[in-house]
Amino acid sequence: MGITDKAKQAALSVVINQALNYLEKDPEANIPKLMALVDKVVPENWYVGQRNAFRNAIAEKGNWYQLILRVYELDPGVRKAFFQNFILNASLKGSATQEETSKREDCNVPWAILLDPTSACNMHCTGCWAAEYGNRLNLSFEDLDSIVTQGKKLGTYMYIFTGGEPLVRKKDVIALCEKHSDCEFLSFTNGTLIDEEFCQEMLRVKNFVPAISLEGFEEANDGRRGEGVYNKVMHAMKLLKDHKLPFGISTCYTSKNVDDVSSDEYFDKIIDAGALFVWFFHYMPVGSGAAPELLPTPEQRTKMYNRIRELRGTKAIFSLDFQNDAEYVGGCIAGGRRYLHINARGDVEPCVFIHYSNVNIHDCSLLDALKSPIFMAYHRGQPFNDNMLRPCPMLENPEILPKMVKETGAKSTDYESPEDVDTLCNRTKPYAENWTPTAEKIWTESQAGQEKKD
Ligand code: SF4
Repeated sequence: MGITDKAKQAALSVVINQALNYLEKDPEANIPKLMALVDKVVPENWYVGQRNAFRNAIAEKGNWYQLILRVYELDPGVRKAFFQNFILNASLKGSATQEETSKREDCNVPWAILLDPTSACNMHCTGCWAAEYGNRLNLSFEDLDSIVTQGKKLGTYMYIFTGGEPLVRKKDVIALCEKHSDCEFLSFTNGTLIDEEFCQEMLRVKNFVPAISLEGFEEANDGRRGEGVYNKVMHAMKLLKDHKLPFGISTCYTSKNVDDVSSDEYFDKIIDAGALFVWFFHYMPVGSGAAPELLPTPEQRTKMYNRIRELRGTKAIFSLDFQNDAEYVGGCIAGGRRYLHINARGDVEPCVFIHYSNVNIHDCSLLDALKSPIFMAYHRGQPFNDNMLRPCPMLENPEILPKMVKETGAKSTDYESPEDVDTLCNRTKPYAENWTPTAEKIWTESQAGQEKKD
């Protein structure tokens, strides 16, 4: 990071802090005055695009403005911790340190670390990748603490629990949030273990945000997760909303639920329930229980591409579709480029969906893991395709992952039923061939549209 960028980061931190204090006093009255404050402090040629986009959003009082107002309905202490940890620590201060470390060590350094406190779960959902690891593995509190402590030294302040069901380990999860109060912790969860006591703990530590899994409306959700789960999830959301706690939704889209989860009704339902964000994950046919028939067709994936972009402009919720939004982050984010995954046994994997690794966190440091052969293969290979609608070395470029796994000698981390990388990628090959012409068409058109705008 050059000296100008550092100066920009420092100036921006000061402005953000001032703006947040100002907004805290009277958000509705002060949001429109916010850009005047920014213009006073930040030179006019800095962050021009972002400033204009924000200015327009405020002027139109549209969905983004409404979303900001919803954020100001949250518990003030939780909101303050989120701004401090997520915006200032993870995204500004952290990114600067990550970039410096990455240059110095010549390897990827992640913005976020995904980690499984446990492989145990209180439910048994169809197609869940977590089922692959067996159900008796745990990272100890000391392991979790050591990962976060090492991560902060590299500039990583964002930690995301996966599993298993992370809230099976509620006490350790909360203890970790408490110990590392300068980090933001998010957890994918089935939501069924969120109760009054846990909400009180969230209010106490302030830096924990759940992302609750939901697959559509009651029938589709309970079809995959079990009868009565939808109502339990709705109850958890009500508890969180009543306590003014932030939360989001995590939705896996498949050939079976694309229409439901891209509908206005679905978005309205989760916004009404209190969700501030919704993250969409494309179904990945990984492991022995994989069901390739659940892979969306090109038409269905195109529908998701168009609908999420449309709804992003109209609904007061922050939505992301990881497989179709790679253009915003320059392609595949795994292998430590933006994130990595540590499973409950300690294997350090490039991605939650890529179960091959050379190293275990019990035997090496986090930095060593980032320099391990498969991580360096990711580092050298990214982006895997210039077309950002074909970002993945497994799903859309199935010839790449087998090459990387074989060249690096990475081993399967699925101990229940190890999957040969050729078997995995032979499963995704027909999907990739089928998707390529559509991906090329959409990408070419969107690039042409972008050039016109510029
Ligand atoms: S490896 Fe594939 S699924 Fe994982 S982050 Fe990269 S593109 Fe996404």
